[in-house]
Amino acid sequence: MVDELSPYPDLPTLHARFAEEGHALGGTVGAYGQSVEGRDLMMLSVPATADTERSVTVCANIHGIEYISSEVAFGVVRALSTSLGRGLRERAAVHVLYCLNPDGRARCAAAAGVGRVRDFRKNLRGVDLNRNFPRPVDTGWFRLPFTGSDDEDAATYRGPAEASEPEVSQLCTALDELRPWASVNLHSFMGTFIPPRVADRATYRTYARLCRAAAAAQGVRYRRLASHWFDSYTGEQEDHQHHVHKTWAVCVESFPVTRSIRQHLRAPSAFWRFNPRDVARWVDNDVPAVLAFLHAALDLPRPV
Ligand SMILES: [Zn+2]
Repeated sequence: MVDELSPYPDLPTLHARFAEEGHALGGTVGAYGQSVEGRDLMMLSVPATADTERSVTVCANIHGIEYISSEVAFGVVRALSTSLGRGLRERAAVHVLYCLNPDGRARCAAAAGVGRVRDFRKNLRGVDLNRNFPRPVDTGWFRLPFTGSDDEDAATYRGPAEASEPEVSQLCTALDELRPWASVNLHSFMGTFIPPRVADRATYRTYARLCRAAAAAQGVRYRRLASHWFDSYTGEQEDHQHHVHKTWAVCVESFPVTRSIRQHLRAPSAFWRFNPRDVARWVDNDVPAVLAFLHAALDLPRPV
């Protein structure tokens, strides 16, 4: 069954890989919570090599079908022992939360990736975890309507209440403690950077700069998807992290559709529309962008 998703690993293999690589880096691996179905929500913490209080987070696989995001996160971990990534550890501890939605991932694997995207994207209770974050309260002089769907069948169903889902509430608690300086949250597909909704122009322009720094590190450069006027607060992770934790946060969607159209047209399953066959190509393309974003954010004071 797992063969149909090859070369992507099943959950036990994923855990083992992060544990092995993390321990080699002097890191620790532990659960910060449990999913609806009781699966561990895991975090690999790699200490900084310099004396600093600062930390950054790399998060992945909040949508269960987006396996490539965990591969990019693993690429970041591997880079930490090379010249490409070593510099990051001199500036901050690195926490990698490599599978935020293990139930969705497991459900996708059990169906061999064949089925409806929304069933593999959401958690076991059918909630889009990336619409379930508590939305910012104090966001300046105006507030736009919140989006995300009230329809339980929708792919973007936001759930019965903010942080109603254990995967989100326990993540928020973990992030409350870490208060990372910057966070890259990995998704697929599209080939875009999506910063949070911000109300003031200066911060909007700062995110444009951060995304340009990330894109400049890529062979295939992704575009920034943002609008000063038309964005809304959706209960997404980046909105929560920016406004509540004062974290420079961005969503990165790997695997640009322009480069993958042939695979999309021939995809035998939902899984293969979201996940490239050539994993290494997109990991190699995106890991430098993740590192560049984090470095550029560490050059800045925290968002106000
Ligand atoms: Zn996603």
